[in-house]
Amino acid sequence: MNRIYMDHSATTPVRQEVVDAMLPYFTEKFGNASSVHTFGQEAHVALDESRQTVAELLGARPEEIVFTSGGTESDNMALKGVALALREKGRHIITCAIEHHAVLNTCSWLEKHGYEVTRLPVDSTGLVDPDELARAVRPDTLLVSIMMANNEVGTIEPIAELVTAAREAAGRRVLFHTDAVQAVGHIPVDVEELGVDLLALSGHKFYGPKGVGVLYVRSGTRMDPLQHGGHHERSRRAGTENVAGIVGLATALKLACDEMDEETVRLRGLRDRIHEGLLSAVEDSMCNGHPEQRLPHLVNLSFKNVEGEAMLLSLDALGIAVSTGSACTSGTLEPSHVLTAMGVPAEIAHGSLRFSLGRINTDEEVDYVLEKVPPIIERLRQMSPFATKEFSA
Ligand code: PLP
Repeated sequence: MNRIYMDHSATTPVRQEVVDAMLPYFTEKFGNASSVHTFGQEAHVALDESRQTVAELLGARPEEIVFTSGGTESDNMALKGVALALREKGRHIITCAIEHHAVLNTCSWLEKHGYEVTRLPVDSTGLVDPDELARAVRPDTLLVSIMMANNEVGTIEPIAELVTAAREAAGRRVLFHTDAVQAVGHIPVDVEELGVDLLALSGHKFYGPKGVGVLYVRSGTRMDPLQHGGHHERSRRAGTENVAGIVGLATALKLACDEMDEETVRLRGLRDRIHEGLLSAVEDSMCNGHPEQRLPHLVNLSFKNVEGEAMLLSLDALGIAVSTGSACTSGTLEPSHVLTAMGVPAEIAHGSLRFSLGRINTDEEVDYVLEKVPPIIERLRQMSPFATKEFSA
C-alpha cells in the first residue's frame, strides 16, 4: 500500500540535500565550536555561516540569531526570558486564545509566578483584532505574543498591524514576540517588515531536522537566559551547540526560501482541490479558518456528526496520514481550543480534519484522497448515534 503523508504541519521529512550537508558534522568535522584548535574552528565556521544564512533570510543581523532546541524552547525563552528581565517594569503579558501550547502553557506557568496574562479572543476566521489589542495594552504590559500563522487552521495574523496598534496604544515600544513556527519556510517572513522584537521558528517544519530552532532577538532586547552554564550564543543559551542540526536548519531554510514562490503556487492548487472537492462531495461540511489570509499548504475542514479521531483512524488504515483538532484525553474527546475560540460549535469542531501538504504530495495523491474520504465519512455517519440534518455550511 502506498502511504500518503498530508501532515506536514506536524513535521516534515528531512530533505536529502539537508542530510548531505549535515553528515560531515557528525563524523570528520565533529569539533566543539568553542575549541580553539582546527577541529573546533571548523565547527565554529559552520556555526557562523549558518547564523549568517538564517539572519539574511529573516532580514536580521547574525548577532540577533539564537539557536535553540526548537519552537517550544524558543517560545519559552522569549516569554520567560523577557518576563524575568523586565519584572521590575511590569507583570502584564498579552497573548491570544489560539496560540500553540508552547505559548499558552508558558503563559499559565507565568501566571502561577506572579504575572498577569490577557488572552485576546479571535473572530470566526481566527483573526486577532488590532483594536482589541490596543484596548488590552496597559502601562505595565511588558510583552505581547501573537502567533504569525495558526497551526490548526492556517490563519495568518496581521502581525505588522498588531505591532503598530500595540505600540501606538502604549505610547512606547512595547515588546512583541511572534511564534512563526508554522510560517517560516512557507510564507515570506522579514523581521523588519513585521517590526517584531522576538520571533520563534523550528527546523523540522521546513524539511530540516527535529530538535533545532531559532529565537530571533532584536539587538537591545532585554531577556534573561533560561539555561546557565558557558557563554554560548552570546550568553543567551548555555550549552555546546548542535552544529550538525544548525547546519541542517540553515540549509533547509535556504532551500525553502529559494523555492517558495514556485512551491506556493503548486501547493495552493493541491490545497484548493482538496478544499473544493471535499466540500462539494460531502454534505454538512465547512472550512475552518480565514478564506484568504491563510497558509498556502493547509486546509482544515469540518464534517458534522463524525468524530475526527474515527476519520483519522479510517484514513490511516488506507495509508492516508492527516490530523484532527480533537484529541482523546482521559477518555473524553475534547474539541480543539483553536476551533472553540473561533466559535465553532462542538459537534462541528469534533469532526475536523487538517490536511497539510508538502513537497512530496502530488495531484494523484489528491485524487486518491478525494475518492476515499467521502465514503468514509458517509459510513461513519451511518454508525453515528446522533446524526441530524440541521447544519448549514
Ligand atoms: N509553535 C507552533 C505554532 C507549532 O506548530 C509548534 C509545533 O507544532 C511549536 C510551536 C513547537 O515547535 P517544536 O516542535 O519545534 O518544539
